Amino acid sequence: MDESQSVDENRGRKTGQVSAEERPEAWYASGLRFECTQCGNCCRNHGDYSFVNLGPKDLEAIPRFLGISPEEFLARFCTKEPGHFPTLRMDAPQCPFLDAGARCSIYSVRPMQCRTWPFWRSNLERERWDGPVRQCCPGIGSGPVHSREEIDARAEATENDFR
Ligand code: SF4
Ligand code: SF4
Repeated sequence: MDESQSVDENRGRKTGQVSAEERPEAWYASGLRFECTQCGNCCRNHGDYSFVNLGPKDLEAIPRFLGISPEEFLARFCTKEPGHFPTLRMDAPQCPFLDAGARCSIYSVRPMQCRTWPFWRSNLERERWDGPVRQCCPGIGSGPVHSREEIDARAEATENDFR
């Protein structure tokens, strides 16, 4: 998965944002339709759109789930640049945890960024939502309506994970 500009913008730094109450009325105030088709596209390498940042909770939970040390997890599955949060390695065509059936093999402990996709703050710019995000994710525009409150809560949860 990842984060085109989202990912890139969020890479390795805190993302101070105004609260939902302080934001002007959003273009998605009446909600957005989204339902995952489980295609796995967001778990595949899309060049710049392929970073999965790992927050402190991810770096505890995933190694524990895998039964390996945090150090081994970082060495085998992550990329770490100075001054940035670690990211899942995406130098292969897809995330190392996407299985042959296009399912996440660490689903119960998947990174926060994977849990909250596609409702990242930077994806919620209309041009981005209707452009690269929609192109990546066939689930956008179908399924149940997610309320603005739910969308903002998921965006906030993503950011809070890196604070
Ligand atoms: S951790 Fe799971 S949900 Fe996240 S990108 Fe990898 S396969 Fe996809
Ligand atoms: S790209 Fe969208 S529809 Fe496909 S697996 Fe990811 S969230 Fe689901």
